[in-house]
Amino acid sequence: MELIFATHNQHKLEEVRDMLPGNYQISSLAELGLMEEIAETADTLSGNAEIKARAIYDLTGKNVFADDSGLEVPSLDMRPGVITARYAGVERDAIANMTKVLKELEGSNDRTARFRACFAMIINGQLYETEGVVNGQIAPTLQGEGGFGYDPIFIPYGYSQSFAELSSELKNGMSHRYRALMGIRKILEGIS
Ligand code: IMP
Repeated sequence: MELIFATHNQHKLEEVRDMLPGNYQISSLAELGLMEEIAETADTLSGNAEIKARAIYDLTGKNVFADDSGLEVPSLDMRPGVITARYAGVERDAIANMTKVLKELEGSNDRTARFRACFAMIINGQLYETEGVVNGQIAPTLQGEGGFGYDPIFIPYGYSQSFAELSSELKNGMSHRYRALMGIRKILEGIS
């Protein structure tokens, strides 16, 4: 089965390709020559995932899925949330974003956090949505070189290392994206 993954994020593309079995052929926007950014104008992660999936479905008429994900910190009123990518500014600088979260948490004794991923998929015009969450803590400082985005400051429950220190196999077997994608996989298995 052929599916477009409506993302420009190479890390996410690789993760998702690793997580779906080989009978799903996943094309990225870049591989289809679709280079323009789709504005994420909704105020929820699920709303943004739907905007991206609909934009590409309307453009191509092909089966498509899209995701939007973010970091939610209860002691920061669930920020950065829907503005996770641009928390410290439009430059989408990962170090600046993480530094801002660490600064805001200075002196806080509640460092719990979670990553949330929302997926929207359109198959033959029908919309399906899934969600996945991974719970953890914000590290006291940046830890590790691997991964992307906020990985160096996110320590999943049950571990003392950050997502940037754990192997990609471990991260990809427990991440918010993995959990949301397993929901997508179940739906696909139900309709194919
Ligand atoms: P988007 O889903 O591409 O809009 O990404 C939202 C933001 O969440 C980006 O800044 C990502 O870096 C961050 N993010 C999403 N998933 C992860 C993850 O697995 N690790 C670290 N950061 C993530």
